[in-house]
Amino acid sequence: IVRLDRVNKHFGQLHVLKDIVLEIQPGEVVVVIGASGSGKSTLIRCINGLEEFQAGHIEVDGNELLPNGKSGRALQRIRTEVGMVFQQFNLFPHLSVLDNVTLAPMKVRGWSRADATETAYRLLERVSIADQADKYPSQLSGGQQQRVALARALAMEPRLMLFDEPTSALDPEMIGEVLDAMRELAREGMTMVIVTHEMGFAREVADRVVFIDRGEIVEQAAPDTLFDSPRHERTQSFLSRVL
Ligand code: ATP
Ligand code: MG
Repeated sequence: IVRLDRVNKHFGQLHVLKDIVLEIQPGEVVVVIGASGSGKSTLIRCINGLEEFQAGHIEVDGNELLPNGKSGRALQRIRTEVGMVFQQFNLFPHLSVLDNVTLAPMKVRGWSRADATETAYRLLERVSIADQADKYPSQLSGGQQQRVALARALAMEPRLMLFDEPTSALDPEMIGEVLDAMRELAREGMTMVIVTHEMGFAREVADRVVFIDRGEIVEQAAPDTLFDSPRHERTQSFLSRVL
């Protein structure tokens, strides 16, 4: 469903992504790990067109992104088909939980308010937060806000979900509830790309773990293989620091 072919990205002089080749199958859960500044966020932001790149190409569900912003309508389609959850929850502060979830389906997909509301309640139920539907984001805990952000992304019926450190802004006691919701989504067969430092979660949920270092994919393997017997010295050294 996703294919990156020799993607290169620079920020000025800085070569942030180097010849990235990555394929993701439908239903696959891929966890991306790597040190701070290695290019993890940039990589997933390229996949949904939030960042331009300078060489290579990216295909998402049959839509092709081209270098230097020459993607045209594919960009629009990718943004509606790909859901994203960020470290900072990015909810609309002036909208209730319910309105946060119904806004995009009504505006972008043209759903009626009744349909969007019904779907929103179903999704809020699924992340165990339907009883908070009338509250505003500021009235919720971080874990609750992040679950709303997940429901909001799912309301667009994405074909692919991207997560960029969804739990790293959360207090420890709230991390579990967000990981549970993601685990559930993985079990239902959603295709997911997840940047996280939660190595236990990665081992349990990932079909494949990708280790990226200084803009390069150094190694990728099934979680048990990558965590227990990394082949590359750079992977070993990273894991020895985080495990
Ligand atoms: P972290 O774990 O800290 O989130 P990361 O792996 O997500 O790190 P990126 O955010 O992708 O790393 O950044 C990769 C490199 O690109 C870093 O050196 C960063 O300083 C640089 N960078 C990121 N965004 C920009 C930008 N908008 N302009 C210039 N440089 C940037
Ligand atoms: Mg990042």
